[in-house]
Amino acid sequence: MTIFVTGGAGYIGSHVVIELLEQGHNVVVADNFSNSKRGVIERICRLAGREFPFYEMDIRDADGLGRIFSEYRIDSIIHLAGLKAVGESVSKPLEYYANNLESTMVLIDAMKTHNVKKFIFSSSATVYSADNEMPLTEESRTGGCTNPYGWTKFMCEQILCDYANAANGCAVVLLRYFNPIGAHPSGLIGEDPQDIPNNLMPYIAQTAAGRLPFLSVFGDDYDTPDGTCVRDYIHVSDLAAGHVAAIKHLDSNSGVSVFNLGTGKGVSVLEFVAAFEEATGVSIPKKTAGRRSGDLPLQCASTEKAKRELGWEAKRTLYDACVDTWRWQKGID
Ligand code: NAD
Ligand code: UDP
Repeated sequence: MTIFVTGGAGYIGSHVVIELLEQGHNVVVADNFSNSKRGVIERICRLAGREFPFYEMDIRDADGLGRIFSEYRIDSIIHLAGLKAVGESVSKPLEYYANNLESTMVLIDAMKTHNVKKFIFSSSATVYSADNEMPLTEESRTGGCTNPYGWTKFMCEQILCDYANAANGCAVVLLRYFNPIGAHPSGLIGEDPQDIPNNLMPYIAQTAAGRLPFLSVFGDDYDTPDGTCVRDYIHVSDLAAGHVAAIKHLDSNSGVSVFNLGTGKGVSVLEFVAAFEEATGVSIPKKTAGRRSGDLPLQCASTEKAKRELGWEAKRTLYDACVDTWRWQKGID
C-alpha cells in the first residue's frame, strides 16, 4: 500500500511521514518547499531508517501529479500541503484561496482519473463557529470563519464532502487539528517559523532562546479561570499517530468521516508558560498586552469519537511537548 503525502516536508507532514514509515507504510511525498527546507527530507530518512520517493513540485501541477499517479499504485492520499498563516491570509486572501482550494481540487481530479478511493484532509478547529458550547464535538456548528485561511479549510471540507457523495465507494476523512505543538524527540525535526512566530509555542521557545525579548500575553481579562485564553494543545507526534489510525479507518469505511484530533484538555496561556518553565528550567519574561483580535476565550476538543472509532488518543503531555520543543529549538539556534 502506497500513500501519497502532500506537504510532507512541513512541520506536521514531516512527523506524519516518519510515523507512516515506522508503521511499515510506503510513501511518496511531494512539497514545493514554500514553507519548509530541503534538509528535512534527508533527516526523515535518517530517523526512519528508510528512503522514499520525494518530488519537489507544486501540487497544483496537474501533469506532474498525473505522472506520479501513473508511476506508483497510490492507494490513499494525505493532503497536508497548504498555506496556514491566519494573519497573512487576511492580507493575501487570493493567494490562500488559490493555493488551498486549487491544490485540493487538482488532487481530487488526479484521484478520480487514477481511481484512488481514499483521502485524508488536514482540516482545523478553526472551521467551528464561535458560538458553540465546549467541548467541540464533530457535530458542533461550522462556518462563520473569521479569516480567509479558515474559510479555505471550510470550503475544502465542503468540496470533499460533495465529491465523496458523488463518487461511488470513495472514503474521505476530515481531521480537525486543535493546536499542534512539540517536536520529534530526536530534536532533528520541528517547527521553525521564518518570521516572528504568531503561535504561542514557537514564540515562547524563541523567547527562551533569547531571540525575542518577552512574550506578550494577549489578554488577561477573559472569562476563564486565570483570565487568559484556553486552548487544546496536542503533541505533533500524537497528531501524526492520528493519521495512521485514520488510514486504518479508511480500509473499512466509505463516505465522509470527521474527527477532532486534540487532547480534550484545556490549558491557559499562563499555565502553558508555567509548564514550559518547569520543563526547561528557563524563565520566560512576559508582559500582559491587549486582546488579539479574533481570539476566542476557550477552545477545546471532545475526543470521544476519535477514541471510539479510530482507537486513537493523545498520549504525550504538555510537559513532553515543552521538553521536545526546547531540545529542537536549542539545536537550531
Ligand atoms: P507547514 O507550512 O509547515 O507545512 C505545509 C507544507 O506544504 C510546507 O512544507 C509547504 O512548503 C507545503 N506547500 C504549501 N503549498 C504547497 C503547494 N501548493 N504545493 C506543494 N507544497 C506546498 O504547515 P503545517 O503546520 O505542517 O500544516 C500542515 C497542514 O495542517 C496545513 O494544511 C495546515 O493548514 C493544517 N493545520 C495546521 C495547524 C497548525 O497549527 N500547524 C492547525 C490546523 C491545521
Ligand atoms: N498567544 C499569546 N501570545 C502570543 C501568541 C499567542 O498570548 O505571542 C495566545 C493567543 O492569544 C491564544 C493562545 O496563545 O489565546 C494560542 O495562540 P496560537 O496562535 O498558538 O493558537 P490559536 O490562536 O490559533 O488557537
